[in-house]
Amino acid sequence: MLGLRYYACQRCETVFALPAPPATCGCCGAETIEELRADSTAASYFAPVEQP
Ligand SMILES: [Zn+2]
Repeated sequence: MLGLRYYACQRCETVFALPAPPATCGCCGAETIEELRADSTAASYFAPVEQP
């Protein structure tokens, strides 16, 4: 397992799945990266949209 962790930019709310925290947000360049602790919360960003 690679051990990916989830990090969210507090500025633009972009979520990254990386093995280590990024120095800056790859989207807006801010340094407001915070690790998401709850896997269920992070997974919701990547989970496929349920079919109606
Ligand atoms: Zn950002």
